[in-house]
Amino acid sequence: LPSRLPNVGTTIFSVMSALAAECGAVNLGQGFPDFDCDPALLDRVNDAMREGLNQYPPMAGVPALRQAVAAKIAALYGRAYDAEREITVTAGATQAILTAVLACVHPGDEVVVLEPCYDSYAPNIELAGGTVVRVPLTPGTFRPDFARIAAAIGPRTRAIIVNTPHNPAAVVWTRAEMQRLAEILAPTEVLLIADEVYEHMVFDGAEHVSASAIPELAARAFVVSSFGKTFHVTGWKVGTVAAPAALTAEFRKVHQFNVFTVNTPMQHALARYLADPAPYLGLAAFYQRKRDLFRAGLAASRLKLLPCEGSYFQSVDYSAVSDLPEAEFCRWLTREVGVAAIPISAFYDGGFEQRIARLCFAKRDDTLERALERLARL
Ligand code: PMP
Ligand code: GLN
Repeated sequence: LPSRLPNVGTTIFSVMSALAAECGAVNLGQGFPDFDCDPALLDRVNDAMREGLNQYPPMAGVPALRQAVAAKIAALYGRAYDAEREITVTAGATQAILTAVLACVHPGDEVVVLEPCYDSYAPNIELAGGTVVRVPLTPGTFRPDFARIAAAIGPRTRAIIVNTPHNPAAVVWTRAEMQRLAEILAPTEVLLIADEVYEHMVFDGAEHVSASAIPELAARAFVVSSFGKTFHVTGWKVGTVAAPAALTAEFRKVHQFNVFTVNTPMQHALARYLADPAPYLGLAAFYQRKRDLFRAGLAASRLKLLPCEGSYFQSVDYSAVSDLPEAEFCRWLTREVGVAAIPISAFYDGGFEQRIARLCFAKRDDTLERALERLARL
């Protein structure tokens, strides 16, 4: 069979999780919490199932959940999305991004991605018949390089994908940076896919500036969010897309023949759970404490800490410890040190090498302590 994705193998996240399990290593590779969600959320799933909410919901998602999400966006970011016509519930951010790409990218269109970037973006664009245009984030700081972004946008550009807070670099775009993006896109018809799955994990008083908060961006954006990250339930695979009605209409044409809709009881549970903003508003402080604990422990090692402004990832420059290439280093770290990590090279086409590994700190404190005991020897 001629492959539709000839250059794609198994994702690095699956590969490293399998190796961590095989070696009994502490898994700080794939990004997921090793602790459970709030039991109150589980009770709400149970309630919904017992209430008989187990059949297909409407194609676009349970109305109460769409309304709760619209209310949250209005309160936090100041844009009033119409829950009926502008919010869609998806099977996680992964399906949201693929569906947005399939809905807007025509064969021959170009889509700009900023490297390093999440590993699904480029294959999504290729499946749509589009051409991936890779623009590097500024080496060293991983901040957007607007001169290069502007230069990459041309008559064939259909869309740009932006991720803030950023996986893996943990950079949070400032309001000025979001506004600069808006200025660059203003004279064009380029669409924006804003991957904001870590929206509630921003540290040191920084602000998450959603594309929905900048009217010039919101008017052209699919804004993607994921409950998996926000409520510690990555396995539930429930997310949302907010987009103007015309974009949402095209999105739903693809969505209805992709998954049609998303599991019902979780949607009801999430809708009810969202009534209290405390869990998501408390997430930044929750993860900032873990970040600080983890960074303090790593200070004893020769691993050099990169800044971590948001997300649940801490990247380290390991060049004082080893000169192995990143993927080899991460395998060595998993096997010999007992801590699994993700090579940043996996977020670049062709595997650009910087001697940086990504560690996930969405773990119980005792898990972090166990990893730190091992990493502190480096
Ligand atoms: N985008 C980014 C930047 C991510 O880190 C992830 C998950 N790790 C996703 C999208 C996918 O999210 P979901 O699990 O909701 O599909
Ligand atoms: N997004 C998660 C990460 O970056 C992993 C999700 C996945 O396994 N596809 O680690």
